[in-house]
Amino acid sequence: GSTIGILGGGQLGRMMANAGSAMGYRFVALDPSPDAPAGQVAEQIVAAYDNREAARELAKRSDVITYEFENVDADVAAMLMAESYVPQGSKLLYTTQHRLREKRAIEAAGVRVAPYSEIRSVDELREAVSRFGTPCVLKTAMGGYDGKGQWVIRSESEIEEAYETLSLAGVQLVLEQFIRFDKELSVIAARNPQGEIKAFPVAENIHVDNILHVSIVPARVSVDVQREAERLAMRIAEGLGVIGLIAVELFYTADGELFVNELAPRPHNSGHYTMEACRTSQFEQHVRAVCNLPLGDTALMSPVVMVNVLGEHVEPLLERMSRQDEAAERLKVSPKAHLYGKKEAVVKRKMGHVNVLAPDTDAALDWIEETTIWKV
Ligand code: ATP
Ligand code: MG
Ligand code: MG
Repeated sequence: GSTIGILGGGQLGRMMANAGSAMGYRFVALDPSPDAPAGQVAEQIVAAYDNREAARELAKRSDVITYEFENVDADVAAMLMAESYVPQGSKLLYTTQHRLREKRAIEAAGVRVAPYSEIRSVDELREAVSRFGTPCVLKTAMGGYDGKGQWVIRSESEIEEAYETLSLAGVQLVLEQFIRFDKELSVIAARNPQGEIKAFPVAENIHVDNILHVSIVPARVSVDVQREAERLAMRIAEGLGVIGLIAVELFYTADGELFVNELAPRPHNSGHYTMEACRTSQFEQHVRAVCNLPLGDTALMSPVVMVNVLGEHVEPLLERMSRQDEAAERLKVSPKAHLYGKKEAVVKRKMGHVNVLAPDTDAALDWIEETTIWKV
C-alpha cells in the first residue's frame, strides 16, 4: 500500500492515521513532540515542522503528503510540493493561514462573512470601531486559535490597549463586527481531485471559554437552514478549489442570516461526531479525497452530541467509565469515548472526546448533564 505523510502529529493526525490504516495505507507523521498522539499509531519523524532535512525525509518516505494543522511554513510546503505529491497544494494553506486572505476568498466564492476591516494603525482602528460600533472583535490575522489573539472591544476606551496588546504578535490585524448570533454552526465539506464534493451534516457548536464544548447533530435549526449551510460550505470548497476537507464555521442570526466566521483546511473538532454517527468519518473522507478515491456517504445514522474531554475531565470520565452507567441505560444513549494518548492532563488541554449516540440530541445532552463530568 501507499504511505501518507502528515505534517503534524496531534490528535487529528492520529485519528486520520487510524482511519487510513483501516483502508490499507501506511502513515508517517512529522512532529517535534516525542509523545505526539499520531506517533503512537503511526511512524513518526521527531523534528520541528520547519526542519528542512526532516521535511525532505518525510517527502522521501511518503507517496502523498497532507497536513493536520494549517500553520505549516509556506516555504516548507513549497519544498514538499517539489519533492513529493501534495494534492492540497500550498495555495489553500496560504489563503487559510491569514484571516484577510481567507475572508476575501470566501467573498469571491459568493459567500458572506461578518463585516470586517483591515487595521494598519490605531487611527484606522478608531475609525473602524466608530463605523461598526461596540462591541466589535479585533483579531490577529494569523496564528490565533481557541480565541487566542483576539480582543472583544466593548467600549472606545479599550481601543489603544487592544491595539497595543494584539500588535505585539507582529502580524496584521482585522476588526470584525460583533455578530449577535443565535447559534454557531459548522459544516465540513470534502472535495477530491475529480471535483466531486460532499458535505457532512451541519453541527451546532457551543463553546466554553472559546474552546469547543459540544457539537450537536442534527443542529437545532430548520432543515432549510441546514441545507443552506451545507450549500455554502460546498460552494466554498468549489470556489477555493479545495482538495481534502474544508471546515466552515458559521454564525446563524435570529433574523435568519448565515455568515462565515472562519475556515480550516483539515479535519475539525466539530466533525469528530462523524466517527460513529456517519457512514463515513471525516478522517476517512479526508484520506479518500487526498488519495483521489470516490468520496464516501456522509449520511447521518444517529443523532449525536460530541463533548470534548479536556484535562480536567479525564479523571471523572475514567471513574465514570469504570462502573455501570445507569444514566446511559435509562436515557438509551451510547457514549463512545476516544482518548488521544496524551500523557499530561493539563487543564483546558484537549485530551479526547465522547460521541454520545442517542435517540435524540436532548437525551445525549441529558446524559452529559447527569454525569457531572462537565460541570465547571
Ligand atoms: P478556533 O479555535 O475555532 O480556531 P479562533 O481563535 O480562530 O478559534 P474564532 O473562531 O475566530 O477564533 O473565534 C472564536 C469564537 O469567538 C467564535 O467561535 C465565536 O464564539 C466568537 N467570535 C469570533 N468572532 C466573532 C464575531 N465577529 N462576532 C461574535 N462572536 C465572535
Ligand atoms: Mg481559528
Ligand atoms: Mg473558530
